[in-house]
Amino acid sequence: MVNLYTPCLSINEKGYLAISGCDAVELARQYGTPLYVMSEDEIRRVCRSYVESFQNFYGGNGRPIYASKAFSCKEMCRIVTSEGLDVEVVSGGELYTALEAGVSGKHIHFQGNNKSCSELAFAVDSAVGNIVVDNLQELRRLDRIAGEKGAVQPVSLRVKPGIDAHTHEFIRTGQVDSKFGLDLASGEAFQAAKLAVQAEHLRLIGLHCHIGSQIMEKEPFVHAAEVMLGLLRQIKEELGLELDHLNLGGGFGIHYKETDDFIPYNEYMEAVSAKIHEKCAAFGLKLPQIYIEPGRSIAGEAGITLYTVGAIKEIPGVRNYVSIDGGMFENPRYALYQADYTCLLANKASQPADYIATIAGKCCESGDLIQEHTPVQRPEEGDILAVLSTGAYNYSMSSNYNRNLRPPCVMVREGQSRVVIKGETYQDLIRNDM
Ligand SMILES: *Cc1c(COP(=O)(O)O)cnc(C)c1O
Repeated sequence: MVNLYTPCLSINEKGYLAISGCDAVELARQYGTPLYVMSEDEIRRVCRSYVESFQNFYGGNGRPIYASKAFSCKEMCRIVTSEGLDVEVVSGGELYTALEAGVSGKHIHFQGNNKSCSELAFAVDSAVGNIVVDNLQELRRLDRIAGEKGAVQPVSLRVKPGIDAHTHEFIRTGQVDSKFGLDLASGEAFQAAKLAVQAEHLRLIGLHCHIGSQIMEKEPFVHAAEVMLGLLRQIKEELGLELDHLNLGGGFGIHYKETDDFIPYNEYMEAVSAKIHEKCAAFGLKLPQIYIEPGRSIAGEAGITLYTVGAIKEIPGVRNYVSIDGGMFENPRYALYQADYTCLLANKASQPADYIATIAGKCCESGDLIQEHTPVQRPEEGDILAVLSTGAYNYSMSSNYNRNLRPPCVMVREGQSRVVIKGETYQDLIRNDM
């Protein structure tokens, strides 16, 4: 039997998969497939554990920010902000979504390595509380845009701390080769701080770094915190400005397979906060407001995707293709980077997973797969296939490839379900066609 590693998942009395008390087979029948299902209970549980760890380790000095690129829609913005999180956006579209959800500009952080002039102007007009400046050109451009509007825009600086964090290794050097941020080692980041301090229409509030994603270890985070405090000290000593805002980014790993082994958030937080307290004391700095920016770890395990099994092609000695009514248009992650997933048949969840399947989508690409050679229960046409941990970077990376329709998203909470994103229609597809 498959190990359901996420607290919101269970197997009910019928032997079917359930999410937050809702029968997955019933959800598939009621809303159709493919279907994104998100557990509001799980999203809120993770948000609370982050907020709580800020209480425990920083005395409430700072807060978590939800990186909305993982899963952006109005209801998600409302849920995370109701738990006390800020929202990070990386485009005008994500900014618009957060604003339309009622998030106030002062709780929005705007990231991105090449924000357009119109996106920057939109952010200044929306009184975004923190624009994270990526490069020197952007610094000058934003100063000019804010000036034209008679505004003084709060900014922080995206810094490349020189840490390359991978899932199972981390290298302290390198990472100069990144399109994101200002280089620390060459002095570019300090140079930007100096320019920001001098800029008439900018107010430098802090520093930011983000070292990677799906990171399973705490050492890279600890090292990044140490390096960033060094820059904070240099800015204090040489520019006479003590910054009160340090954002250490996101990237905390989640389960895609039951064997994925990552460190509980509390351990990251404990190790990083110990280093921060130690270095602040050593450097004579007051404890800044600390921010972290998780996306995947808030939305990822809260989501599952449900499909109906169609054609099954067993090619002896080669593989068994099990085709579903979704594919790379609603989950491109396997096609993009061979992402791991756990699959099971929701209507056979209590049976042994003794069949090895390649889960194929319906797009006209051989690479349109969701998973290869993965154990599932013995499949038949009409079964409901569930793919776990699809809450992050699935809906947000979806497309209309082959003019397929983006599926609806249903939010479930304590046995109740509701649509939070409607499924697309054929009319939606031709909406902008002339
Ligand atoms: C993507 C991203 C995040 C979130 O990363 P996760 O791995 O989803 O936690 C946070 N900050 C920045 C700048 C990012 O680009």
